[in-house]
Formats: sequence, C-alpha cells, structure tokens
Amino acid sequence: MISSRMKNLHPYVPGEQPKDREYIKLNANENPYAPSSKVQEALVDFINRNPMKLALYPDPDSLELHASIADMLNKTGGVLCNAVVNGEKVEPAELDKIPFTVTPEMIYSGNGSDEVLSFVFYAFFDSGRKLVLPEFTYSFYPVYAGFYNIETDVVPMNKDWSLNKEEMLSRAKKNGSGLIFANPNAPSGISLSRDEVRKMLEKADSNQIFVVDEAYCDFGGESCISLLAEFKNLLIVRTFSKSLCGAGMRLGYVVSSPEIVNYITTVKNSLNHFPIDALAQVAGNAACKNPAYYCECAKKVVEERESFQNFLKEKGWYFVPSKTNFVLAKHPCVSGEEVYKRIKQEGILVRHFSTKGIEEYVRITIGTKEQMNALKEAISRI
Ligand SMILES: *Cc1c(COP(=O)(O)O)cnc(C)c1O
Repeated sequence: MISSRMKNLHPYVPGEQPKDREYIKLNANENPYAPSSKVQEALVDFINRNPMKLALYPDPDSLELHASIADMLNKTGGVLCNAVVNGEKVEPAELDKIPFTVTPEMIYSGNGSDEVLSFVFYAFFDSGRKLVLPEFTYSFYPVYAGFYNIETDVVPMNKDWSLNKEEMLSRAKKNGSGLIFANPNAPSGISLSRDEVRKMLEKADSNQIFVVDEAYCDFGGESCISLLAEFKNLLIVRTFSKSLCGAGMRLGYVVSSPEIVNYITTVKNSLNHFPIDALAQVAGNAACKNPAYYCECAKKVVEERESFQNFLKEKGWYFVPSKTNFVLAKHPCVSGEEVYKRIKQEGILVRHFSTKGIEEYVRITIGTKEQMNALKEAISRI
C-alpha cells in the first residue's frame, strides 16, 4: 500500500510536552517571554476590523511582512542581544552593522524555518551528491535528507564541540555538494565568527549552495548577512521561533540574493502556494515593527545564561560555553539520563538525547529568572 519513499522517512522527535502536570519547560529552546503586546493588539485589531480577510486568501507574496523583516534586520544587524536600544529606537552594534540595505526581495518567508529548510533542501541538494553534515547539528537536517532521498556524509566534531571546517570543506568538494550547518550550532551552542565563515566561503565551491542556519544568532552569534554582498551562493535561514517569541506562530525566513529567493519561491508555488496564513503575516509584521521589545528579551536571556553558566562552574559541572538560549551541560558523575529524570521530578523539563556521543549531557533552555532559580535549586539537590 505505501510508497517506496516511505522507507526513507525517519520523523523528527520534538521535545516532550507532557500533560500530567504543569512543568517548567526548558526543553525546546522556546523563548520564555510572550510576544510584544503590539503583536496581540495587531491580531485582535485585524480580526475585529477585517473578519472578511479570514475568508479570503492571504497575500501570496507576504510583501508587507518581507518589508518589515528586512527593516528589522537593518535596524538590529541580525543580533538582537547586541543592538543598541534607545526608547523605541534600535541601532545595530558596531560589529553587527550591515554594509548595505537588506531589501524585501532578499527575503523569503515560510511556515516556520523547518518548512523553509525543506524547500531549501528540495531546491539545492541532490540525491546523487552526498550532503556534508556535522555529526551533531540540528537534527532535522538528516530527516530532510531522508525525505528527499539525499545521502549524507557525516563529519565528526572536534573535541571541543566545534565544527571540523577543513574536513567539511574537503568532503563537500569531493562530493560536489553544498554545505549546511547551524551557526551558532545546536545542541553545542558554540558559534563560528563571521571571519571564520568568510574563510570557509572563500574555500568552498562558489557554484554550490552554502547554507547557514542562524536560528540562535540573536543571542550572541555573529550574523553572516553582511557576507551576502561578497558571496552569491550564501543562503541564511532564520526563525521567529526563538528570539522573536513566536514558536507558536510558525514563521521562518531566508535572507539571500533575490535570485536564490526566486528558486525557493518556485518550490513553494509548486507545492502549496499560500504557505503563511493571514494571521501569521499580521503577527510577524507587528513583531518586526517592535525590535526594541525583542532586544530586551534577548538581553535578559543572555544575562540569565551567563548567570547560569557561572552557577554550573561553581557546582563543578562541565558545559560548552554558549552563544544561544540553551546550554549543553553534564554533571561530573551523574549520567545525563539520571540528571534529566531528577530534574523532571522537581517539575522541570530539560532535553536529554540518547544518541551516542551526547548521551552524558542534557540541553537546558534558558528561561526567566524565576524559572532559572527553580532550576538552580533542583540542580543543587543532585
Ligand atoms: C528551532 C530551530 C529551527 C526551527 O525553527 P522553526 O522556525 O520553529 O521551524 C531551525 N533550525 C535550528 C538550528 C533550530 O534550532
């Protein structure tokens, strides 16, 4: 009954969402803060004023949203936690300034960056060319490789959890394939500098796509958006799910050249030509118009992350220094699974992966000060 393709499907397993009691959720890298009140107002206003718009198809090109996303990137430089906030006014930090103006034609948006990534895989990776992946990275990449019948060539991490850049480049050359990685990477939380990515791009085949997933960049990475001026094969994926407090809105986007954006639009128009609903467009638009709020959220997350890492150090835990909204950590003698269970008994969920090489660790999402205080207490009892 089922197609032969089905045997290549290995669905992603999301962080658990138990219903048996109220947990503090630090297991899915969601933002602990609600979206800006401007988002709530815009949604209520839209529904009250234009109920008919829900009966009609939304703007297939999301033009207003793309203009707002571009505008937000120009104002923040793509790193919210570093941006300089003055009332409602936001400017990029010196290091993050983009030396050109990001335009709406450089943006493609979709139903979460997961959908965007799937279109990127469809458009730029081939079944005949083994795709080079870091051993530990966003676990959806191998899932899509299976979905599109693309073989993978997995490169082990360096001992300090950094990417083995040279090996990734040389295998991509050998396989005649493109590259994809998250920067900062997950679940390690560490980041390559923009200069390191630039050096990789200089060595990579300029006829192959080079995908950088910046899902966590707003929490302290270095965005590669400014490299778009130099490299025509660079494609950057970003999301509203982490730093824009919008995992429930399902909004992700690409920043790249208009030409690459057109290829992805072609995939979309061949599959489901209305991917973003009208409400998500309104919500995303309102969020981008209020970057000051999201800068404050990102700054709070970074402050809690630093405090939590200091706490782990005092307690003698090992952790990978993070540039994201999560920390990969392990207890000096208690196993990752046991740590996960004991923290869960205290009403807090963190993420444990049973994959070999990472099973000793737990991945802990940074929450509010109150949530982190509760976690610190739970950890002190282990
Ligand atoms: C969370 C995450 C995504 C997916 O984000 P959505 O927009 O919610 O689909 C993509 N890439 C990485 C590295 C992530 O951690």
